[in-house]
Parts: sequence; C-alpha cells; structure tokens
Amino acid sequence: MIISQNINYQDLYRSTRHPYLMEANRKALESNPVYLVNAVRLCFMVIQPLFDTDYIDNINGFFRFPELNLKVKDSITSQHRTGEAADLKLTKRSIFQIKEYGLLEFYSLVNESLNCNAHDINQIVYHPEDSFIHVGIGYPGRQVQIGESVNGKITWLRGK
Ligand SMILES: [Zn+2]
Repeated sequence: MIISQNINYQDLYRSTRHPYLMEANRKALESNPVYLVNAVRLCFMVIQPLFDTDYIDNINGFFRFPELNLKVKDSITSQHRTGEAADLKLTKRSIFQIKEYGLLEFYSLVNESLNCNAHDINQIVYHPEDSFIHVGIGYPGRQVQIGESVNGKITWLRGK
C-alpha cells in the first residue's frame, strides 16, 4: 500500500535490525488509531515534503512498539512509540549544509520547505555518526528542541 510518492505503508513499522519483531510492531501500530493518524500526519506534513525537496532519501525508523523500542535502547517516553517521530536518512546535500551552516540554520532551511507551520515540529536531533535526523512532531505551541547526538549523548542547541 502506498501512502505517498516516496512512502509505503510498510515504512511505518519496518525494522531492518529486528525483522522478527516487524509483524508484532505492525499489529501494535494498528491497535490504536491515534498512532496511525499521528504517523500519517507526520508523513504528509514533514517526511514527503523533505523527500520532495531532496533533504532526505530514506526512512530509517518510524513507529516502534515497546519491545522494539527497548531493543534499540530508546527512551521510554520516545515519540516513536506513538507514531509521532521518525528517523530520516539525510542526503549528501543536507550533510554538507549542516557542516557548512550549522544545525540551527539547517533547521530554518528545512522549515521553509515544509507545508506545515514550523511549530508543528517539536524536535530535531541530528545523528552525525549515522547521517540521519530524528524528527518529532508535536502540536502548535510546543517548544522546539534542536540537538546533536554523539555516542548516545545529546547536546541541545535550542530548548531543554
Ligand atoms: Zn528517533
């Protein structure tokens, strides 16, 4: 099933590192309509526009039920657990832009290419070692947090 031009339904619950948990992850996603609505909202407001504007070229991770979340050692309050966050593989151009202009300026560039109100994104965490960004979507009015994660430790440039 296709959600949008670059996103398949399977991208919402796929796990390349733990494929044996994928089916259980899909069932957990489908067990709560709120998770599906969150995930589809993130797809249309953020992920597809970032594909369209060549900021990302893949989805590394999306929804994670508690067992899968534990396996990847993510926080117990992770937005991945409610379909409100995804890890997005950056294009070479994006990595260059972050190095050249810094993460805060990159965030401004990204926002300009999105359909949504900038404040709908509530978290961006850059993982330079694996060349991806974690993007969390919240609700208008929430404080935006921007940080960089190295060796599992996040340095916050804005928020927190
Ligand atoms: Zn993440």
